[in-house]
Amino acid sequence: MSYFRPAIRNMAGYVPGEQPQQGKFIKLNTNENPYPPSSAVTAAIQNVLGEGLRRYPDPWGDAFRIRAADVLGVPPDWILCGNGSDDILTIVTRALVGEGQQLRLPTPSYVLYRTLAEIQGADCEEVPFNRDWTLPEQFAVGSQKLRLVFLPNPNSPSGTIIPPEQILELANRLNCPLLVDEAYVDFADTNCLQLVGQNEKIMVSRTMSKSYALAGLRFGFIVAQPQVISELAKVKDSYNCDALAIAGATAAIDDQAWQTKNRDRVIATRCHLTEQMSQLGFDAARSQANFVWFTHPTEAVQPIYAQLKQNRVLVRYMNFPDWGDGLRISVGTDQQIDACLNLIKDLVP
Ligand SMILES: *Cc1c(COP(=O)(O)O)cnc(C)c1O
Repeated sequence: MSYFRPAIRNMAGYVPGEQPQQGKFIKLNTNENPYPPSSAVTAAIQNVLGEGLRRYPDPWGDAFRIRAADVLGVPPDWILCGNGSDDILTIVTRALVGEGQQLRLPTPSYVLYRTLAEIQGADCEEVPFNRDWTLPEQFAVGSQKLRLVFLPNPNSPSGTIIPPEQILELANRLNCPLLVDEAYVDFADTNCLQLVGQNEKIMVSRTMSKSYALAGLRFGFIVAQPQVISELAKVKDSYNCDALAIAGATAAIDDQAWQTKNRDRVIATRCHLTEQMSQLGFDAARSQANFVWFTHPTEAVQPIYAQLKQNRVLVRYMNFPDWGDGLRISVGTDQQIDACLNLIKDLVP
């Protein structure tokens, strides 16, 4: 199709994790929360249905911004809402990285960042993590071409975290903005929210998909200094968040009691999963997220993924060139994890 821009013709397109619409699977492959969201979310959405759908939604999602500002301890004008945090990542990339310019990301990490660079016709520089999931010196070196750095923290697929002090130092050394993707941070011990006030180049993105169990609703947001937010807002769709999503996300962030309880349950199961897999001979990365990255010192893991799938348990098999492969298993309920562990027990010697 010669009508399309070369950048589009030459790119492969992002392939999301398997989302089987048929058949009963235990789904441990895309880091969804295994528990239903707060009942306050359903009530808030029901309240909008009908008459509430007639009008356009609030273009800024102020109800959410005001509530989230209170919970997070930042002013509302430091927040921009998105149709999932993938929308936020798209807005940031479109606003900052032009054709021929460069975007940096670590690897192994979230593959979508590369797709976003490719859509812009931009260069993508993938810097490999050290084997212990720390960042090499080179990650902090700026250049004329480099316009944006992405850093998922906790990282996916490893679940590991770079401490905030190191992220501040990184941002201070770079000559371009740094987006810290905190999709999984509610399952971690620390976060980078405090850093946003200390350096205007630091932006933090969050999502309601994982820790609030709302992957189907599509709502995410970014926290940045207000002069940054106003520039980003120019790039977004006028009504990027629909009325149902704004109402649901507002109710969800308002219910911190639900969030704490859910987080504690997920972390308990994460510990159980990690312990059991270690006993089966797997190496586990030190996860601060709702999934764990497993490798095996002697056994091939791809056949384990395939066998699990045949038994209707979906985990994520990932293979990174020059790095190696592994299994990323999302934290499900205790029952789901035990079912998965029981199958794995029969698959490793
Ligand atoms: C899941 C995920 C997101 C996307 O979240 P949505 O809000 O559902 O778009 C962003 N970044 C990382 C690293 C993720 O794993």
